Amino acid sequence: MDVKKRIKELREKLNQYNHEYYEEDKPSVSDAKYDQLMQELIELEEENPDLKTKDSPTQRVGGTVSEKFEKVEHERPMLSLGNVFSEKEVRDFDKRIAKVVSDFSYTAELKIDGLSVSIIYEQGFYKRAATRGNGVVGEDITENVKTIKSIPLKIDFEDKLEVRGEIFLSKANFNKLNQKRLDKDKEVFKNPRNAAAGTIRQLDSKVVSRRNLDAFIYYGFHDDFNNHYETLMKLKDLGFKINEKTKFCKDIDCVIEFINEIEKIKHDLPYEIDGIVIKVNENEFYEKIGYTSKFPKWATAFKFPTEEKETVLNKIDFQVGRTGVIKPVAILEPIDISGSKVSRATLHNEDYIKSRDIRVNDHVIVRKAGEIIPEVVSVILDERDGSEEEFEMINKCPVCNSEIERKESEADYYCSNPNCKAKHLAGLIHFASRVAYNIDGLGEAIINDLYNDGYLEDIADIFKLKNHKEDLVKKEGLGEKSVDNLISAIEASKDNNLDKLIFGLGIRYVGAKASKILAKNYKTLENLSNAKKEDLSEIRDIGEAIANSVIDYFHNEENLELIKELQDLGLNTKYIDTSVDKSTPFTDKTVVLTGSLSSYSRKEAKNIIEDFGGKVSSSVSNNTDYVLVGDSPGSKYDRAKELGIEIIDEETFKNMIDTGE
Ligand code: NAD
Repeated sequence: MDVKKRIKELREKLNQYNHEYYEEDKPSVSDAKYDQLMQELIELEEENPDLKTKDSPTQRVGGTVSEKFEKVEHERPMLSLGNVFSEKEVRDFDKRIAKVVSDFSYTAELKIDGLSVSIIYEQGFYKRAATRGNGVVGEDITENVKTIKSIPLKIDFEDKLEVRGEIFLSKANFNKLNQKRLDKDKEVFKNPRNAAAGTIRQLDSKVVSRRNLDAFIYYGFHDDFNNHYETLMKLKDLGFKINEKTKFCKDIDCVIEFINEIEKIKHDLPYEIDGIVIKVNENEFYEKIGYTSKFPKWATAFKFPTEEKETVLNKIDFQVGRTGVIKPVAILEPIDISGSKVSRATLHNEDYIKSRDIRVNDHVIVRKAGEIIPEVVSVILDERDGSEEEFEMINKCPVCNSEIERKESEADYYCSNPNCKAKHLAGLIHFASRVAYNIDGLGEAIINDLYNDGYLEDIADIFKLKNHKEDLVKKEGLGEKSVDNLISAIEASKDNNLDKLIFGLGIRYVGAKASKILAKNYKTLENLSNAKKEDLSEIRDIGEAIANSVIDYFHNEENLELIKELQDLGLNTKYIDTSVDKSTPFTDKTVVLTGSLSSYSRKEAKNIIEDFGGKVSSSVSNNTDYVLVGDSPGSKYDRAKELGIEIIDEETFKNMIDTGE
């Protein structure tokens, strides 16, 4: 490869994409693609330092300054953030910091996908707001930012204060805005970030006001502020909107836990995020850790892994779920994403499709992120040739042909027929599935068959299948042995713990985690069925939606009959507490392992500690409680001695497990 040529090509491409993204708010490639090309350029420049130039996109903050607005010189540069893409890279970031300073902590924050703003307050009054621009000079957007209701115009703080934060558009407001643009035949915004950036650069602040932008604040600069997390708490007291998921972390393990936790729920947030920002708290270390021309070295952004591919949307199908919800599904020209074949992707709901103007025959970008089912993200408008068909929502259930209805304030449609076959089938499949009641051998295909033959209608019928044994063995594809196995698996499943049963019932909003919490709190299904709304709402992690749904479920006669029947059929309806006794020596303790043990593999030792309520960490710090040392220990042993951490050998470990002391 001609490196010089490739570097030139990458710089040209990235400059073009920057222009489309920052100035026109109309990116032509996905962020993942942009990040990948940027990464390639960073690596090539690192390998060939003589080819580095100051004006390379790797060295500059991305945006420019529009002539439409007054220019504002920033008092301190508004930098971008470096990126990390894996747990290993997060740990490497931590190691780089630990080489320069010690005794530091972090704040982990959501990386809101919007655009940054700097706001100056003088003598307690809102004075001026500016975009990041090229990092040195930004655009004066004082009037437009004033329309954001969560930004205070007056604060109880006499000195000059600069705060910075992210202006964003919520998912709901983004959908509304694009819907309106579609109604007026205007081109839709690709995503909430571009819509927010396009909005803030409107010359008419009345237009800005109508679009309901919002902002989270994540920096504050004043001589008295010397710790980032404390600064955020002070800003909160002053009336600024600080994201509630901001977390103080004493070490990198805590940051990683936070990343994993947020990755699971990020799709449920009312605004878009594209990662987690990790910042060292102690301001006194900032100069020592330093800066590059583009970003501070004491902070970085973990970007959630996504893989995006382009394909053609051949058809839009509709699927009916166990609650009767009707979900549009894209049938795609199959593509390979992260090593798996993808031929279906969710389109979420009518609003989602319409706000992005997704049509059959469109070339679309499909994204797979973590464990989440693939989704269609956007349309490549340049590929349209006129053969595309505009989306029309259906008005009858695709399975039973009954009316469908959309409840107020909900984005989804539901089949109105309580006896819709699709609902029953989806409910049975969910009940028997591995994540719920986990009945071996009772998969989707056989449930379909048994349903169509009239053996299964509701969950209770599963436990009556043994009464039809003679007929079942005669069925094609089922022999005596497989029927016996199936019946034994069904009988054995009756001992399942209560949370599995609660989850299996398919109560709306009650997922596996909520089922566990409910089972633990109520102990029996009977208690749960008599639960009061006030008591439910008091339980941590049980929100209003879940509480209402549980009450509704147990106020329905049919459901109560079903539960009675399940009890009569011998299903366990009591919670069996399998958690460990609280008084174990490892409860809430952090343990680090080093060297090899003779009686346990590392994994076994880790499992034991975790079963006993402890946590295993990979590095020794002041937060470590014990270091379990085997043969030929590594440097962790020395570090533990240095820090005075309690060291235990294998013998002591065994004793602690056996005697609990
Ligand atoms: P960035 O978005 O990767 O990170 C820096 C920005 O994060 C800050 O300027 C700030 O606005 C924001 N941020 C959000 N929450 C924050 C928090 N809690 N604390 C601090 N900052 C927070 O960097 P960037 O330079 O603004 O943009 C580069 C990224 O933009 C690329 O990685 C790419 O994803 C995207 N991009 C895409 C294209 C495209 O053509 N698709 C082009 C240019 C840039």
